[in-house]
Amino acid sequence: MNRPIPGTVQVAVRHILSDRTTGFLTRTRRITWRDGIYRVRRPASGKHTVELTCPECEASLLAEVRDEARTRRTATILLVLAALSVLVLLMAFGYAVHEGGKTLPEGQSLPTLFPISVVSVFVTFVAAPVLFLRGRRYNGVSMLDAPKPRRLHGIMPVRG
Ligand SMILES: [Zn+2]
Repeated sequence: MNRPIPGTVQVAVRHILSDRTTGFLTRTRRITWRDGIYRVRRPASGKHTVELTCPECEASLLAEVRDEARTRRTATILLVLAALSVLVLLMAFGYAVHEGGKTLPEGQSLPTLFPISVVSVFVTFVAAPVLFLRGRRYNGVSMLDAPKPRRLHGIMPVRG
């Protein structure tokens, strides 16, 4: 049913029904939504704008759709950046452990590269999975504008 059709892409128009955070000590965020599945056509080249209507409240959302080649290129770049982040993470981690584990002679401080490597470990640790997921999910469709209740809507990628 979710067979990919060349030149088109499936997206879900997500209408957020409620977004509540409850609890005092243990906070839980509960979001409920309703999705309407649409199939939009990709332009032959470049990008174009399509209008989608929310099935729940009939708000019209503008989405920007990119062509197949550019979409694939952006997804690849995101995945390459994710791989590079993993590489930097491993190298910075190895360096930080190596330098941090040394017993320094009297009056000598750690090299400046040490704090940089520690920061790099944290940054890439967060960035790598984010970039990876974005690259995997990237479909070249982004929400441009939704009049009025914009924050109550989202355009989500659909696997297929
Ligand atoms: Zn809606």
